[in-house]
Amino acid sequence: MQILIFGAPGVGKGTQAVELAKKFNLKHISTGDILRENIQNNTELGQQVKSIIEKGELVPDNLIGKIVKDALIKSEKKFILDGFPRTRPQVDILEQVFDELKISSPKIIILETDDDVIIKRLTNRRTCNKCGAIVNLLRLDKELTCPKCGEKNNYSQRDDDTEDVIKNRLKVYHKTTKPAVDYYRAKEGAMILDGTLEPLEILAIIESKL
Ligand code: AMP
Repeated sequence: MQILIFGAPGVGKGTQAVELAKKFNLKHISTGDILRENIQNNTELGQQVKSIIEKGELVPDNLIGKIVKDALIKSEKKFILDGFPRTRPQVDILEQVFDELKISSPKIIILETDDDVIIKRLTNRRTCNKCGAIVNLLRLDKELTCPKCGEKNNYSQRDDDTEDVIKNRLKVYHKTTKPAVDYYRAKEGAMILDGTLEPLEILAIIESKL
């Protein structure tokens, strides 16, 4: 199975992608995670993209295109792709790779939400320092207990989850990524879902349609 998942930053694509990958035994390919890992490990790629990501801009199409192509080849056609394509030229890169790999009808999932919901969610998004779970502070108990591992009040915040950068990421999404999403929205069978629903509800709807 091949799945492409789309939506504005913070709409919950990563959360759904992790669950779907587990459920259907797919490789979760998140371009954001790959880039952040490279920044953390201070690789050449990491050094190249750090300031771009911190500003909420997009890294160059060819650079990310090559990374995705390698990851798709390694996945043996069992993947959920999260965070790519994000521009119209990236759509062309992906379509070419799909031709080469003989992938003709990936499942398409598009999550939609208003910008004000996104801003509220992202300013409250944190990562558990112990288990890596992504949480929302507004959904935690008073002691800020991680729902996955039980660790208390031990989180970090992504450098690009500050209000100014979030607003820029949303601007980039509407201007540059929307045309790529619209290309897939027009495909037969594309699932267009309400991203304001509870994560488990969204997951159930996706599973029933897959
Ligand atoms: P994400 O975790 O998907 O929100 O991605 C975090 C950041 O990584 C984005 O704001 C971009 O700077 C960069 N990035 C991730 N995927 C792409 C992509 N397909 N094209 C360009 N930049 C990307």
